[in-house]
Amino acid sequence: MFDDSVRDECGIAVAAYLGHEAGGLETADPVDAARLIPGMLLDIQNRGQLAAGISTFSPERRPLIRTHKELGAVSEVFKLADKVANKALMQRLAGTIAIGHTRYSTCGADDVSYAQPLERVHGKPFKWFSFCFNGNVANHQQLAGKLVSEMGYHLTRPDSDTELFMHYLAFQQRGQRKANWRKALGALCRVIDGAWSLALINAAGDLVVARDPVGIKPLCYGFRDGYLLAASESIALQNMGVRDIVDVAPGTALIVEQGRLRVERFVPERRPAHCFFEWVYFANVASTIESQSVYAARARLGVALAELESETVTPDHIVVPVPDTSKAAGDAFAYTLGLPSIEGLVRNRYVGRTFIETDDRAAKVRRKFVALRGILQGRKIFLVDDSIVRSTTLAYLIDYMREEGGAAEVHVRIACPPIMAPCFYGIDMSTIGELFAPRFTDKPTLQGELPAETRRAMADAIGADSLNYLPVDKVASAIGLPQRSLCMACVSRKYPTPMGRQLFRQAQANVEAGITGGRTTMIANHCG
Ligand code: SF4
Repeated sequence: MFDDSVRDECGIAVAAYLGHEAGGLETADPVDAARLIPGMLLDIQNRGQLAAGISTFSPERRPLIRTHKELGAVSEVFKLADKVANKALMQRLAGTIAIGHTRYSTCGADDVSYAQPLERVHGKPFKWFSFCFNGNVANHQQLAGKLVSEMGYHLTRPDSDTELFMHYLAFQQRGQRKANWRKALGALCRVIDGAWSLALINAAGDLVVARDPVGIKPLCYGFRDGYLLAASESIALQNMGVRDIVDVAPGTALIVEQGRLRVERFVPERRPAHCFFEWVYFANVASTIESQSVYAARARLGVALAELESETVTPDHIVVPVPDTSKAAGDAFAYTLGLPSIEGLVRNRYVGRTFIETDDRAAKVRRKFVALRGILQGRKIFLVDDSIVRSTTLAYLIDYMREEGGAAEVHVRIACPPIMAPCFYGIDMSTIGELFAPRFTDKPTLQGELPAETRRAMADAIGADSLNYLPVDKVASAIGLPQRSLCMACVSRKYPTPMGRQLFRQAQANVEAGITGGRTTMIANHCG
């Protein structure tokens, strides 16, 4: 996805020294946990580059928990370009347990106080904790209201899901004795509706790594040299040398107390709802989620798209995938049609995100891509992309390919169904009004293709010669999982949680009332 890319909300990484519990080696350094985190976060930085952070626990150190977090990419926050500074930082953070976070926010300020992990200091070690999560609290508004009006809390950042989460986690530890983690997580699920993969440490030396009851966000774990390692994506573990990587089952937690690990279910098993967009766009292409390779899924999406192709293919046609996330689908699309897949658009990989973020759409396209005239000139291009959310910049890209590249025709092919509804689970598309496809059709195409006249109108709107999408019913088989085990709410309008369904009705009411902008909540335009 190139234009106005939607962004996922965060990635988490965990390292905890368990020694023999985790097949420990004599040589492993038990206070090395912090040093493992930056590399793991680098591998999942596709999930956010706004801020990063780490909290570590050491029984030998005061304070027992120490947190370091800053705005910026992982390499900046952990000073990876400066060996001396990085070494000093890692020595300061040395501990037996570490949790790390890389952030992109769907709301909340671009301010370090919103960065994670978020530490809650308390005089009692079991009430002193630090945590981070990937996801979104769909019923934020109700819970924030309840905290303030019924429970007497004050919210320093009323728009922050993280602060809300912190208070509900703290509430579970309100007694004089340490709460049972399984019961505490179960209680949390009775309150919070949304998506969350969570990592928490406390000053008593506990670690909790948990996934929400339907497993919307990915989370996996494995062991290496006496360490338990967990992360949002498998690539972070694979690059640490973990061989057997296991998905944390939805509604299940890894709980470490007194150096001993147990895996516990904290809510009864439910039908899972794994976000299908992880395979389409968000996840690192080298990751495997729920035993399904992201690369293979994207390639199969490309094959399915090619099987729908009605354009008469000629020697003048070439396939140009939008770099980088569309490459696997574009290559497979090309291979199936017997066409070359060529890098006619070269992405500038070294230009920072801040530099790209400008309101001048044409300038944004030029800073991000170079259109290769030698490749595109006079050719009929199949431009393969993984999705269209808002389309506001895609028209500029097509124009650029014609003007600068000299492309004769640009046929846009999308390896995903039309995005027809907002996401309330941590992706920054929150209203119907901001989406491209609902301007042309009022209901999802669950089977078969969009009507030809609808596709024509959409193609005209972005200046393409033609446009086609994958239908909803082709996606699950390409991913390799049953459709009933996926969240596909943004393309099917079928939400996996009660609050998702309620918010969608509100989003529809907002459209009918002519309310645009902001985020969809039960009162329009609140940032949750
Ligand atoms: S609504 Fe879409 S983007 Fe959001 S979790 Fe569900 S499938 Fe993923």
